[in-house]
Amino acid sequence: MARDERADVLVVGSGGGGLVAALRAAAAGLNPLVIEKSDVVGGTTALSHGALWLPHNPLMEEAGLQDSVEDGVRYLQAVVGDQGPATSVRRQTAYIEGGRRLIAFLRERASCSAWSPTTPTTTRTCPARARTGACWPRR
Ligand SMILES: Cc1cc2nc3c(=O)[nH]c(=O)nc-3n(C[C@H](O)[C@H](O)[C@H](O)COP(=O)(O)OP(=O)(O)OC[C@H]3O[C@@H](n4cnc5c(N)ncnc54)[C@H](O)[C@@H]3O)c2cc1C
Repeated sequence: MARDERADVLVVGSGGGGLVAALRAAAAGLNPLVIEKSDVVGGTTALSHGALWLPHNPLMEEAGLQDSVEDGVRYLQAVVGDQGPATSVRRQTAYIEGGRRLIAFLRERASCSAWSPTTPTTTRTCPARARTGACWPRR
């Protein structure tokens, strides 16, 4: 990188969170710069194949699968519970609702493309669901 490189937004880390933040900044007309401490791009996100666990996502809906924000929250409450502000029903609802907008955005930007019906949740005792909605990046 040239020393005089300039950016509107500096993103630290090239995992899914960082790259989506950079994409969002670029979509808003800003010039993002992603810096990464390791010698490879992708972080933990790359290890997990870039999959997102997201109930009631638009790809599932298009595949005709019934799901809802309420069922997703019910699942999260059964598995994680409410351990404080980070896991409150309000936060979990925001995760699922915001996730729907995220998928719509990523699809516009040619990324998220498939829903995997073969990705079961590992928590089989949960009453709310037997499957999760996992979105995979386009290859
Ligand atoms: C095997 C596996 C399977 C998974 N499966 C799923 C799944 O099916 N569904 C799901 O939703 N989640 C899954 N996860 C979890 C998911 O991968 C992570 O929660 C997610 O990738 C975290 O993304 P992130 O952008 O926050 O962090 P990361 O992807 O870890 O990115 C952080 C990046 O920041 C860099 N960095 C850190 N500090 C600095 C610094 N000071 N300067 C510059 N760079 C820095 C790191 O090197 C890294 O590249 C899985 C995880 C694993 C390991």
